[in-house]
Amino acid sequence: MKISVIGCGYLGAVHAAGMAEIGHDVVGIDVDPHKVERLNRAEAPFFEPGFDELLAKNASRLHFSTEMADLASAQVHFLTVGTPQSPTGAADMTYVNQATEALLPYLSEGSVVVGKSTVPVGTAERLRAMIEPTGAKLMWNPEFLREGFAVQDTLAPDRLVYGISAGDEDLVEVLDSVYRPLIERETPRLVMDFATAELVKVAANSFLATKISFINAMAEISDQVGADVTMLADAIGHDSRIGRKFLNAGIGFGGGCLPKDIRGFVQRANELGVGNAVAFLGDVDEINMRRRTRVLDVLAEELGDLSQVTVALWGLAFKPDSDDIRDSPALDIAENLARAGAHVRAYDPEAMGPAKARLEQSGLGDHITLVDSAQEALDGSDALVVATEWKAFREFDPATVSASLVVDGRNCLDRETWKAAGWRYRGMGRK
Ligand code: NAD
Repeated sequence: MKISVIGCGYLGAVHAAGMAEIGHDVVGIDVDPHKVERLNRAEAPFFEPGFDELLAKNASRLHFSTEMADLASAQVHFLTVGTPQSPTGAADMTYVNQATEALLPYLSEGSVVVGKSTVPVGTAERLRAMIEPTGAKLMWNPEFLREGFAVQDTLAPDRLVYGISAGDEDLVEVLDSVYRPLIERETPRLVMDFATAELVKVAANSFLATKISFINAMAEISDQVGADVTMLADAIGHDSRIGRKFLNAGIGFGGGCLPKDIRGFVQRANELGVGNAVAFLGDVDEINMRRRTRVLDVLAEELGDLSQVTVALWGLAFKPDSDDIRDSPALDIAENLARAGAHVRAYDPEAMGPAKARLEQSGLGDHITLVDSAQEALDGSDALVVATEWKAFREFDPATVSASLVVDGRNCLDRETWKAAGWRYRGMGRK
C-alpha cells in the first residue's frame, strides 16, 4: 500500500520507517528541510535505539519530502505532527490544523486520514467535518510508543486502538490491512468511537503520571520519617493489583508527552465543565515539579551555600536511551543549580547537542560546562547528581574515582557499592 506520514518527529519518523518495514511504500512529509534531508540519507535526526538500522534497511521503500504534493498518490495518510503545550497549558493545535488544511487538496473518495497525534477530546470530530467535503474518511489511532523503545513499540505494540465514526465500520478493514503483520500476530485491536479513542491516550498517560507521582509522594513522606521508598515500592509492587512498574521514586517524569498531556487534559476537562473529575492531576503535576527542587534541597543540606560548589551532573535527557530534552527534569536541575550560583559540569551519552542548543538560549551556559565523559564531569566537583538512569551510569565503578557526595536522583545506583567505595550516598526517599 502507498502510505504517507505527515510530521516526522520522534513519533512520525519511526512510524514511517516501521510502515516501510512491514512492506508499504512510504512518503514522510515534514516542514523541517534539515530533518527531511537527514532522513533521506537514512540518518536518524534524533537518537533512538535501532532506528538508524530500520531506516537503512528500508531505504528503498522510504522517501521523505517537504512537499505535500509528494503524498498525492498515497491512499492512507497518518497525521503525526506535534501537539505541544500552549502558554495556557492547553494542547496547541496549530500544527494539526495546518497539516490537515495542507492535506485537503490531495484527498478524495477512498482516501483515509488516520490521526495519531495526542489531541484534546473532540478534535477528531472537528477534523472529520473539515475533510468530509473531499469524500475522504477519518480514523483515530492513538499512539502509545515509548521513546527508547520506539522501534519495538511500533512493530510490536501492546494493543491497537481504532477510533471510527458511526457508519464507517468498513474502515477497520483498511487499517487492518495496513497493520496486517501485527493483526496476524493477534495484537489486541480495539474498535471504538472517536471520543473514547482520544480519551484512551490521555487516560493512559494520566494513569502513568499518577503512578509516578504517587510513589514520589511516598518518597516525600519517607524522607520525613526515615523510611525507605524503594523497599515500600518493592513491597506494594508484589501485589498483582498494583504491580512494580512505574513505582521508581526519583526526580519525576518529563519529556514531550506526560507533563503536557496531563495539563492539556485538565484544560480540556475545564472547557467541558468537568474539571473537577481530573482536578487531582493538578496535584500529580505539583508533586512531580517538587521533585526537581528536592535534589537542590539535599545538596544544600549536605554542602550549605550552593553558590560555592561545583556539581557533576550525570544525565540531561528526560530518560535513558533518548536524546529528548523536552521538559527534562535533569536539564531543569542543571539550570536551577546554575541560578543558585553553583557551577555544573554536565554529561549525557546522547543529549549533549540538544542540551547545548537549549543552554545557548537560556543564557545560563556560563554556569554549565558540558564535558565529554562521566569521569570528566567529576573533575573538581564537590558532589555528583545522577539525573538520568543511563546504563553506563548505573554500571560505573565508583572505586575508580575519588569519593565525595553522590545524590542519586533516580535511585538507580547500587548504594552499597558506592558506600563501600567511600562515597556519601543520598537517594530520593531513602534514609
Ligand atoms: P515532534 O515535535 O518530535 O515531531 C513533530 C513533527 O511535526 C516535527 O518534525 C515538525 O517539524 C512536524 N510538523 C509540524 N507541522 C507540520 C506540518 N504542517 N506538516 C508537516 N510536518 C509538520 O513530536 P513527537 O514527539 O513526534 O509527537 C508528535 C505527536 O505524537 C504529539 O501529539 C505527541 O503527543 C504524540 N506522541 C508522541 C510520542 C513520543 O514518545 N514522542 C508517543 C505517543 C504520542
